[in-house]
Parts: sequence; C-alpha cells; structure tokens
Amino acid sequence: MRFDILTLFPDVVRAVLDSSIIGRASQSGIITVKAHDIRDYTIDKHKKTDDTPYGGGKGMLMSTQPICDCFDAVCRELGEGSKKVIYASPRGRIFNHEVAKELSQYDNLIILCGHYEGIDQRVIDEIVDEEISIGDYVLTGGEIPACIIVDAVSRLVDGVLSDKECYENESIASGLLEYPQYTKPRVFRGREVPEVLLSGHHENIEKWRLEKSLEITKERRPDLYEKYMLAHPPKPKKSKKK
Ligand code: SAM
Repeated sequence: MRFDILTLFPDVVRAVLDSSIIGRASQSGIITVKAHDIRDYTIDKHKKTDDTPYGGGKGMLMSTQPICDCFDAVCRELGEGSKKVIYASPRGRIFNHEVAKELSQYDNLIILCGHYEGIDQRVIDEIVDEEISIGDYVLTGGEIPACIIVDAVSRLVDGVLSDKECYENESIASGLLEYPQYTKPRVFRGREVPEVLLSGHHENIEKWRLEKSLEITKERRPDLYEKYMLAHPPKPKKSKKK
C-alpha cells in the first residue's frame, strides 16, 4: 500500500513516520510513505501558497494552484490500482477502527493536510473523495491527523506487524478494551502480577483476560460493551438431566 501526504510541512510528517514500526515497514518496502511539499509546486515568484479569504475574515487560506499541481504530479507517479483522496478536516467523518479497515483496502491513499484557516473549497471539490476528522477538536494543521491515519491504517496491512493477532486481539479491534498486561519483574513496588498469569494454565488465563476485558469495557465504554454482548450473548446454562 502506498500513502502520499500533501503538506506544507513535510518534515513534521517524516519525523513521525520515518521511525519505529511504520519506518521499518517503509524501509522494507511493505508500504510506501511519501510526504510531498506543496510549496515546491507554487508558481508564485515569492513561493506563496496561501492568500486572504474572499468575503473577509481572519487568517489565510491555502490556495488552489500549488495543491492541485502537487496532486497532479503525485497522480502521475501512481500506477494502476484503487485510490482514495482524503482531506484531513474537522468537518469530516470521524476516524475510527472501522474507517481504518475500510481505507486499508485501497492500494493508494492520498492525504491532503490543511493549515492556517484551511484550504480553498474548490480544491476539495476538485480532488477530494472524503473529508476525515480525527476527533471533535481543532488542530493547527492536518499533519498530525495524516500521521494518525497512516499509522492506524498501516498496522492493518499484511506484514507491517509480525502477526495479525497483534491487532485482532487489541482494544477496539476485538470489540472490547484490552485486559491488563504485565511483564517482568513479578513484583514491582509491592505490586504483584496476578497469580493466574504465572500459572501456565492457558484456559484459565484466557478466561481471566476475557473477564477483565469485559469488566473494563463495561465500566469505561458501555456502548462497546452493549454491542459486544449483543453479538456474543451468554450461552444458556445446560439444565441438569433428571
Ligand atoms: N477553519 C477550519 C474549520 O473551522 O474547520 C479549521 C482549520 S485548522 C486550524 C487547520 C487544518 O488543520 C485543517 O485544514 C485540517 O487539515 C487540520 N485539522 C484540524 N483539526 C483537525 C481534525 N480534528 N481532524 C483532521 N484534521 C484537522
């Protein structure tokens, strides 16, 4: 899968996505992540990429020409394959695991990052398939949202994580929040690892983990708990034979 991020601040994106698991996945060619500097495409002699909004109002808007020329150049680089163009925007559909799963089905994801007051609407009308928001708050730019989208989607691409189980058993993807996890030492500042995890009894460990997941999900995310219980109704107890 390939990700192209269109931004005025490519260094921000690279600083995040060139390291750790996503950086390694890019280096080994499992995914391709490219940050494109929109400013490289401006035809303005002062390298301007924004202007004041028509109708007045505070701040600056990113203008049409550099973004659309940058976009056209990226499209020329892409081969065949499905493509989706996203604008990271607080007006968009809220990003979650289901959206990440949906986006992971594309061969190419192009993410446009706004900055300042946002971008000229005609860019959105011309090139964007969907606006996606990472939550109900406003950030100064779309670079962090783009990194979040690339990170969450990449984890679902085969080969990025060592094992599918890594994400299938995790919070949200499994339908529940994760149970508590522990590593060495057995006792830290008087706090002990639950006995069952040291028992080596796999069935009991699985049972304990599910119980803890249910407990935590019920307490913190009753909406998820309800959904999970509807999909996994408790098995009716067998009546004793007379
Ligand atoms: N004037 C815009 C509005 O009211 O919707 C907000 C512009 S914001 C200061 C600058 C840029 O940050 C946006 O163009 C967008 O790309 C990005 N951004 C801010 N909050 C975001 C969010 N919650 N999700 C995704 N992108 C966001």
